[in-house]
Amino acid sequence: MSNASENEAVLSAEQLHALQEQVPAGAVFRVVEARKISVPHPYCIGPKHVQVAADKFNGRLTEEAIRAAEAQGARCDTCRERARRGGTMLTYDQHENNLTLMLTIPDDAPSDLNEIPGLGAYLSAIKPQAQALGIQAFAFPKEQQYAKSEK
Ligand SMILES: [Zn+2]
Repeated sequence: MSNASENEAVLSAEQLHALQEQVPAGAVFRVVEARKISVPHPYCIGPKHVQVAADKFNGRLTEEAIRAAEAQGARCDTCRERARRGGTMLTYDQHENNLTLMLTIPDDAPSDLNEIPGLGAYLSAIKPQAQALGIQAFAFPKEQQYAKSEK
């Protein structure tokens, strides 16, 4: 089992740097990276997807191969698991991969992001640039939580 297109590098170092250098001096938040975040969960490939990819797509597990496998009854394994407990079965295209800019905030930061000095102004300032880069969402993990998510 593997997850399709998780955590690939999605902005160049220069693009990320351009966003980082606009953070005001002395800010308590840091722009750390942009990554694809799967909503509601990463699409989980099963044996049938692999078989269709092997038979018809020269072993390459492309998006086209995944859709072809679904046409033959393959499903996301995570959805299949959840459907047993009453969850919804989603198609590949219903699993969204949002390009998300990760900004870490201090572990003792207020839970209301509006109270973090300069954050709102920064997000407004970079909005046009972020949109041009294809950034669809922002996430604000606390530093410790973010450090744990890095292996
Ligand atoms: Zn799923």
